[in-house]
Amino acid sequence: MSSSSSSSSSSQPKPLRIGIIGFGPFAQFLAKTMMKQGHFIRVTSRSDYSELCTNLGILFFRDMGAFLESDNEVIMISTSILSLSRVVESIPFHCLKRPTLFVDVLSVKEHPKDVLLRIMPEECDLLCTHPMFGPESGKDGWTDLTFMYDMVRIRDQPLCSSFLHIFSSEGCKMLEMTCQEHDRLAAQSQFLTHTIGRILSEMEVEPTPIDTKGFQKLVQVKESSVKDSFDLFSGLFIHNRFARQQMKNLEVALEKTKEKLQERSKELQDPVISKF
Ligand code: NAP
Repeated sequence: MSSSSSSSSSSQPKPLRIGIIGFGPFAQFLAKTMMKQGHFIRVTSRSDYSELCTNLGILFFRDMGAFLESDNEVIMISTSILSLSRVVESIPFHCLKRPTLFVDVLSVKEHPKDVLLRIMPEECDLLCTHPMFGPESGKDGWTDLTFMYDMVRIRDQPLCSSFLHIFSSEGCKMLEMTCQEHDRLAAQSQFLTHTIGRILSEMEVEPTPIDTKGFQKLVQVKESSVKDSFDLFSGLFIHNRFARQQMKNLEVALEKTKEKLQERSKELQDPVISKF
């Protein structure tokens, strides 16, 4: 694993032609900064985003074949985790005009790595990434936000570096890490955060007039978790093999905490809380 923090660089690489597959909230968020940097964006997606794209000055392709023929240097995949296999299997690769750098930005990493290595043509380079931020946390800029990446199959190093420069030049903390290590750590951190947020939402936790700072943070966790789609949350569980263990750890920890409280109440022989 290696890490480096880059400030805005003065040497700006040439603008890239970047195609995006899947134009949901996260891709729209990334596209804005890519366009600000002068890159040319083309989009295809399951839903019709032609009006939004026209307003943003982006070319939208209903047809995946025509999208591939539009000669992108980089194709960024930003579909939901759950739909990745189906989407990638449906790509008509024979329409590609050139060996292309495929980049995924999914919030799990071993799954897209496996799918891309299995399905992508051998001549295409593969970069698996996870920007560890989203439309909420990155709304005021990307400085010091972490960008994880794994150069799974890279032969065109300058092209890969130009793509990474999009993030390093915004001040992201660039972190090279294997997909496996990412998933192990993300299960302990991101998946746990989303799970707690979803539990708080099930409990219908709301702000009160006497909120402590700690409770305000809990409400924030709830609110930011439910802003992401349930598909995203499900994907974090279904396609990260380390998440199942975290779910078990959470259940065990809740039981242990309850047991400790029961023991203490027995010690004190408090009739009010001696039974749950
Ligand atoms: P998402 O709900 O995870 O994914 C929405 C995208 O998936 C849309 O482009 C949608 O297409 C597409 N999609 C869903 N089901 C599909 C299907 N059956 N067939 C084809 N396409 C399908 O929401 P998101 O927040 O935009 O996330 C996109 C990706 O970025 C995910 O893999 C997520 O893990 C990753 N990511 C998200 C964040 C974040 O903060 N949100 C941060 C880092 C990484 P249409 O819109 O055309 O229907």
